[in-house]
Amino acid sequence: MTCIFCQIASGKIATDLLYSDEHVVAFQDIRPQAPKHVLVVPRAHVASLWELEDRELAGALLLAAAEVGRSQGLGAGYRVITNIRKHGGQEVPHLHLHVVGGHPLGPMLQQD
Ligand code: AMP
Ligand code: ZN
Repeated sequence: MTCIFCQIASGKIATDLLYSDEHVVAFQDIRPQAPKHVLVVPRAHVASLWELEDRELAGALLLAAAEVGRSQGLGAGYRVITNIRKHGGQEVPHLHLHVVGGHPLGPMLQQD
């Protein structure tokens, strides 16, 4: 098993989990882009949102992102992002939701 997020989800790589249920785990991003930056990750290997077909898992991921927002104290607002494949800037090929917040985030897309 070479997938880093499969290894974290299975416990092969010990990581402090901020949320865990039968479908999903959540943990801190190692290179946080904001004061709070948590990754919500399915236990099952799904490469990206493109490949996601399991409705129960889809619901579990979204509800976990909502729960992480609450547990991280992000009531002022935050953002949930998933990068998909090459043009989406996806670096880790295991589906994950970024839960990002803790300060005002500004425009969603930079006009470069
Ligand atoms: P993406 O570009 O959407 O694939 O984002 C991948 C994210 O995973 C990046 O924000 C990385 O900082 C994060 N990341 C990579 N490896 C780890 C790890 N071992 N533990 C926590 N976060 C990680
Ligand atoms: Zn994986």
